[in-house]
Formats: sequence, C-alpha cells, structure tokens
Amino acid sequence: MASVVIIEDDQRIRELMAHVLAGKGYEVEGAATALDGLQRIVATSPDVVVLDMGLPDLDGAELLKMIRAVTDVPVIVATARSEDTDVIRTLDAGADDYLVKPFSVEQLEARLRAVLRRSASNGAAPAIIVGDLRIDSGSRIATLENTALQLSPKEFDLLVYLAERVGIVVSKRQLMAEVWRQPYGGSEKTVDVHISWLRKKLGETAAAPRYLETVYGVGIKLIDPT
Ligand code: CA
Repeated sequence: MASVVIIEDDQRIRELMAHVLAGKGYEVEGAATALDGLQRIVATSPDVVVLDMGLPDLDGAELLKMIRAVTDVPVIVATARSEDTDVIRTLDAGADDYLVKPFSVEQLEARLRAVLRRSASNGAAPAIIVGDLRIDSGSRIATLENTALQLSPKEFDLLVYLAERVGIVVSKRQLMAEVWRQPYGGSEKTVDVHISWLRKKLGETAAAPRYLETVYGVGIKLIDPT
C-alpha cells in the first residue's frame, strides 16, 4: 500500500487526514513542522507527500524547493490561498497537484490516487542488461558498450522482446504475432530482414553471431556472449 507523509501544522486537520487515510490502507506519517517533514521524507522515502503551504517554521514554497533538491517524490500542495497566481507559482515550484482549503477527504484521496497513478506510469521498468547491451524501454534507448544504437521503432521492439526472454528461442511466427501484431498474416521475411538489420547495428553477422543466435528450424534467441 502507498505511504504518505502529511506535513500540516494544524493538529486537528493533520490527525483527521491521517486517521481517514490510515483507514483506507495508506501508511501515514504526520509532521507538524517543515523540518520534521523534510526529515521524515528523507528517512522513509514515501510514495507521496501532502504539504500545507502555511507552516510555522518555513514557508511551504521554500520547503518544496528543499524537497525537490533531494527527491522527485510527488507532492500535493494544500493551500488556503486560492488566487490563480499562487497556484501557478506553486506548480512551477515543483508541486504535482494542489488542493485549496477547505477540502474534503474524498478530494484528497482522488488527488492521491491520480498522482500515484501518474508516478506509477512514469516509473519506467528497470533497464534490461544483457552483457554489454543495455535497453531502457522507458526512454527507448538501447546502448551497446555505452554507445547508443540507432534503431528503428520496430528494431527496438524486436530487441526488447528478445531481451525480455534472454536465452529462450522465439519462433518467427511468434515474433510476427507479438512484435508485429500479425498473428495470421504477414511474411516471416519481414522478421528476417529486421533481424539482419539488428545484427548489423549490433556489429555482428549471421555467420559470426554474438547476441542474436539463430536456431535453425526453430527461431532465434538473444544470448549473453560476455
Ligand atoms: Ca497551516
């Protein structure tokens, strides 16, 4: 379940939010001051932060800058000021979303869910590393010995598909169905052509393969040659 740090100096509001969110299954930590909040963020690496802009020891915008200096955790700002300029200033300062006081717990929860959903979809899958090959499907960058490979979108998809199944033989029919989304039609020649282009970019040939090993009559597999 998601963890939340709530930085709010009003004890009544803080405890109410903490109580309701804990009841919904969130792991909640409350902080009454900016510095206590910052310490808790550093100590617990929460999934999301709810930050009241009016704090006794430090301006919320200042704290936001300090949070941004150490982490890109999503921050939902709670503000009593409803002027548009303040909201824009707050978002510019690095907030992911905002709530204008007074807000209901339902509104808070909706914002939490939205922010968590966004950060989950941004949180790209970890890069796949096979030997000297590194494939980052989030940024769609593949490197070989730290040099970026200039791959077409289909070559990239093909490489990812094989790299996710390292050491496993994949048939051309399967590649046609899964990478080209053509389970019934399409020519396996398409696969052959893309594999030969990919080989070239990986600096190898069918006669002297390194990463792409053809298994005759079965298909192809990506292996770690190092
Ligand atoms: Ca306050």
